[in-house]
Amino acid sequence: MTGSPSKVAIVTGAGRGIGAAVAARLARDGFAVGLLDLDEASCASGAEAITAAGGRAIGVGLDVSDSAQVDAAVTRVAEELGAPTVLINNAGITRDNMLFKMSEDDWDSVMNVHLRGSFLMSRATQKYMTEQKWGRIVNLSSTSALGNRGQANYSAAKAGLQGFTKTLAFELGKFGVTANAIAPGFIATEMTAATAERLGISFEDMKKGAAQEIPVRRVGEPEDIANVASFLVSDEASFVSGQVIYVAGGPKA
Ligand code: NAP
Repeated sequence: MTGSPSKVAIVTGAGRGIGAAVAARLARDGFAVGLLDLDEASCASGAEAITAAGGRAIGVGLDVSDSAQVDAAVTRVAEELGAPTVLINNAGITRDNMLFKMSEDDWDSVMNVHLRGSFLMSRATQKYMTEQKWGRIVNLSSTSALGNRGQANYSAAKAGLQGFTKTLAFELGKFGVTANAIAPGFIATEMTAATAERLGISFEDMKKGAAQEIPVRRVGEPEDIANVASFLVSDEASFVSGQVIYVAGGPKA
């Protein structure tokens, strides 16, 4: 095994939550990190924190579902940090509703960010990985891929990402590029806090209730996902590809 010629990672949705924790962890692992997010200001502050700690990072604003913005952001990372060989497709949104109330916009928005976004980002970065004969793609799926009331759009997108991941593993393996998915259960972030608010319950009560249903009796933290991502992008994980790793404190949330 030759190891990574270019230790440069891109994390989408890195402005907060799981993406911010993964970006910080990969920086500690020695990667230069491109933090990409809709909100350039939020990922710029994450990049500054990494730089202040002695790492290399830049924040870039983009909408992952826009092809031109994706290509421009990936080119900028390549020019400023070096060829990206790690991609974490983490940007995500929810537009929950029961099927009979779900609008076409709720459906399309979720598909566009999760599926189209991961496709565009993977297509734009794979050339750097295949050129270097080393790469790692990690897609954020979810336990909702197994089905979840009120999430027809999100569960379909997260299940779709699992098929996408396995296909990338088949296509890119011969170039030394692996693709895996992490399927988190309940992770305490603004996404789950927003769900609590929509349901009209306090986030603390929601976390307590969720923890009782989870075998290890606690909800997840963004660092729980960052730990697994750190392994999947390492040299040691070179024989792990096309897998979906449920990180949910038990077999499923
Ligand atoms: P979060 O706190 O809502 O963060 C998501 C980030 O993605 C935000 O910074 C958001 O930017 C960014 N984003 C949204 N749409 C984007 C777009 N079109 N282009 C670029 N960036 C975009 O969510 P999280 O809980 O950390 O979740 C991260 C990932 O894990 C998501 O894919 C989510 O589906 C998945 N996941 C989360 C959980 C959980 O329990 N939290 C469970 C399973 C899976 P803005 O801040 O500007 O909106």
